[in-house]
Amino acid sequence: MAKRPPKRSDRSVRREQERNREKLAADREKLFQLEAGGNKERPLDASSAAVIEAHAASVPCPRCEGQQEVLEHSALIHKGVRLREAKLRCRKCGSERSLFFRIVGPSIN
Ligand SMILES: [Zn+2]
Repeated sequence: MAKRPPKRSDRSVRREQERNREKLAADREKLFQLEAGGNKERPLDASSAAVIEAHAASVPCPRCEGQQEVLEHSALIHKGVRLREAKLRCRKCGSERSLFFRIVGPSIN
């Protein structure tokens, strides 16, 4: 008969789940920052400044998929490129991050 692993207490299982969730959230946050829009090197294209806040607010929190609100929307220049930074805060878990945009003007396609 196969040996069963020793049964752990509920509390230690919960602690481990909590740690795993936290690690997963941190990984998602890192991934978010590597993806387009998550950093200054790879801004998202926006057709105008007016669409940035709606776009930014539609991106779910990478940690908990909660809805985010735009705290601040500012212009900056990174390596000669004019960017917009939307500072976001998750309404659910309270974590904060930024999304970066480059205004490319209306598409001619
Ligand atoms: Zn969240």
